[in-house]
Amino acid sequence: METKLDLIGKVAIVTGAGSGIGQGVARALADEGVSLVICGRRSEPLQETSRLVETAGGRVTAIQADISQTPDAQRVVKAALETFGRVDILINNAGIGGGDSIHKMTDEEWDQVMAVNLRGAFLMTREVLGYFREQKSGHIINISSESGLEYYPGDGSYGLSKHALNDLGEYIQRENQELNIRVNTICPGMVVTEMTEDSPGLNHEKCLYPEDIADLVVWLLTRRPNVKIGTPILIQTMLNPWE
Ligand code: NAD
Repeated sequence: METKLDLIGKVAIVTGAGSGIGQGVARALADEGVSLVICGRRSEPLQETSRLVETAGGRVTAIQADISQTPDAQRVVKAALETFGRVDILINNAGIGGGDSIHKMTDEEWDQVMAVNLRGAFLMTREVLGYFREQKSGHIINISSESGLEYYPGDGSYGLSKHALNDLGEYIQRENQELNIRVNTICPGMVVTEMTEDSPGLNHEKCLYPEDIADLVVWLLTRRPNVKIGTPILIQTMLNPWE
């Protein structure tokens, strides 16, 4: 029995793919023969990811988009359908850190973190789900965080957005699993990326790297369709990266 799905010819959308984990996932998927639609807010990093994917022989379309805005989310999914004629995979990776202790947080900080980390994943998911439900297949992977399982004082809005993202994934899975649509949520610990690399006191040697998360994404995408990997998956460091 074949225990591993082939990804050659599949089409994936990766959000926030201009840097960090999103770029690592885009590169890993291209290596598996997946055609890519990548999106993010900034043009230059997207161009860099496109260059890396194309140099490795992959096919990629880059769309500058803010995934917290409905028309932008619609534009990204439309571009995938127009360019490649299908969508099989959505990686909801785009996210921002931020915030402060709850009592110091401004309305704007709260709204911004929720808009990108939660609403953005919802909007992208809603746009692909109409299509996935019709074709009776599709795989969504949400990049959450260890903060979505823990409670770190001083990081409330980020943590809350990721706790809610975990639950969004559960709802999407339960509402769509009869239609052969799979959802996984990955909760990484500290990964060296733009978001974290300058954090004072962070020991990079004890951190994860985008490739570690990308490997897990590929593993999840290549399970046989009837294999359900439940609950958020925690991938963290053995050693404390702050020591
Ligand atoms: P990163 O800052 O390198 O990547 C985030 C990407 O998302 C950037 O390219 C950014 O331009 C894009 N983005 C931000 N807002 C967007 C928007 N509104 N629309 C479209 N794109 C947008 O950081 P990263 O560490 O690679 O983060 C990727 C994901 O991993 C995030 O969801 C983050 O919360 C999560 N995460 C990171 C770590 C870590 O330690 N780095 C740990 C756990 C989870």
